[in-house]
Parts: sequence; C-alpha cells; structure tokens
Amino acid sequence: MKKSHGSAFQAPQIELAQCQICRGKAFIKGVFYDLACIQCNASGWVVAETGEALQLHDLVMQLSFKLQEAQRKVEALKRASTTSIGKHYELNNRLGAGGSNYTGD
Ligand SMILES: [Zn+2]
Repeated sequence: MKKSHGSAFQAPQIELAQCQICRGKAFIKGVFYDLACIQCNASGWVVAETGEALQLHDLVMQLSFKLQEAQRKVEALKRASTTSIGKHYELNNRLGAGGSNYTGD
C-alpha cells in the first residue's frame, strides 16, 4: 500500500490548554447528575490559542499525541525508577538540601 490514497494529509500538532469551564475534567457538576462539558467537546482540552473546542476528528488526533507523549514519559519514569537507585538517592538528597524542612535561621 502506497500513501496515494485520499487527499493530502498533514497532522499538525495543535497546542492544547486545559478547559477553563470543566478544569480539564470533561464534565461539569450538574444539580442532579454530571453533564458533558460543551465548551471542550467533553475532552477537557481546548485550543490554547482560541480557547475553543477542537473539531472531533482533530480532537481525537491531538488526544492521541498527548497520550503517546504521556506514555513515553511514564515509560521513561518507570525505567528511571527501576534501574537507577543511585539517581533516586541523589534526587532525595537534592530535595533535602533544597530545604522544605530547612527553616533558615
Ligand atoms: Zn470543558
């Protein structure tokens, strides 16, 4: 199969922002039951630039990008936490030195 099928296709990555109306939850609390958020097409995301909902076909693609990105991060974190205990200590030390407990006097 060659990619001659269909019209010219691009997959631009649209910058998304969390929906202000539902705060990214995709639904809002109704009086009796939760309602799908209309502002963001019940996705929790809107176009960062305009604050408007994406078209559904765009939305699916952008959510896919986001999910892939998130999965890559999760995998990276998993690898980091299982393979490098040394780094873990280093991080803890740094947090300690940063001093959430350090009162400063
Ligand atoms: Zn929303």
